[in-house]
Amino acid sequence: MRASLKKLSPRAWLQLAGWTVFGTLGCVAVSLAVTYVLFRNTSAEVFDLVLIEATLVPILLAAPLFFYLTLKLRELAIVNHKLVVAASTDALTACLNRGAFSTRVDDVLTREIARRGRRSVGALLVIDADHFKSINDRFGHAEGDEALRIIVAAIQPCLRADDMLGRLGGEEFAVFLPGASPVNAADIAERIRRSVAEASFQPGGRDHRLTVSVGGAVFERPVGFAELFRIADLNLYEAKGAGRNRVELAPMPPDRTPAWYQPQLN
Ligand code: GH3
Ligand code: MG
Ligand code: MG
Repeated sequence: MRASLKKLSPRAWLQLAGWTVFGTLGCVAVSLAVTYVLFRNTSAEVFDLVLIEATLVPILLAAPLFFYLTLKLRELAIVNHKLVVAASTDALTACLNRGAFSTRVDDVLTREIARRGRRSVGALLVIDADHFKSINDRFGHAEGDEALRIIVAAIQPCLRADDMLGRLGGEEFAVFLPGASPVNAADIAERIRRSVAEASFQPGGRDHRLTVSVGGAVFERPVGFAELFRIADLNLYEAKGAGRNRVELAPMPPDRTPAWYQPQLN
């Protein structure tokens, strides 16, 4: 307990003190109300004594109890937050893992549909490292891991504040660009490709060029993550087939849903 008290910031102390005082005052109020109902017909001296007791006892008992409970609840909230972060983060690259990324993209898409309806816009890029197996084979798995971290570090500066980066698995990443027009999306995808190609990777002290292929799907209508991913992944295959270290972007095919249909949002 002493160790956790030492780690508290001034703001946390203020919060702790606030809840302790608030809880204790609540107990004092209940105690005084009950005492009043039970002892209001006794003599003035007895009533005064009982009132003092009814004030002091809850202060002595409730204050430490509320302090302890608030401290423990705070610790629980911190541990819970760490667990949520760990469950949604990729351990190697510290970007979102596949589950967290697809869930968050779907959440944003649902909010976009609610806000902008048929005018929802944005893009999904799927980014796959080229000939990555040969990096592991030539330089070892540890250097391969380092190359993945370098790729993430090269992608990050190309993104805007609301963009999201996730590791879909292995040497494959995805970037979601909410609100991006087709021109914005093509520009960001090209910047990512160039940034990775220019990144410094020196396994065993010698320069080795990293490259990625990027497949993308641009949407200008309501879509879900699975549908976007399918088109972006098909374009990734195109980029690989066309020689790698390149970007292939395409708009989503037209929606066949009739104009009168309103999706039911939860
Ligand atoms: P392509 O250009 O067609 O994408 O070829 P590639 O070699 O990148 O693709 P392939 O699917 O054949 O190989 C992917 C390799 O990525 C194989 C696997 O060992 C490696 N890999 C996947 N995850 C990790 C990881 O976390 N660390 C390391 N070091 N390597 C990984
Ligand atoms: Mg690959
Ligand atoms: Mg791959």
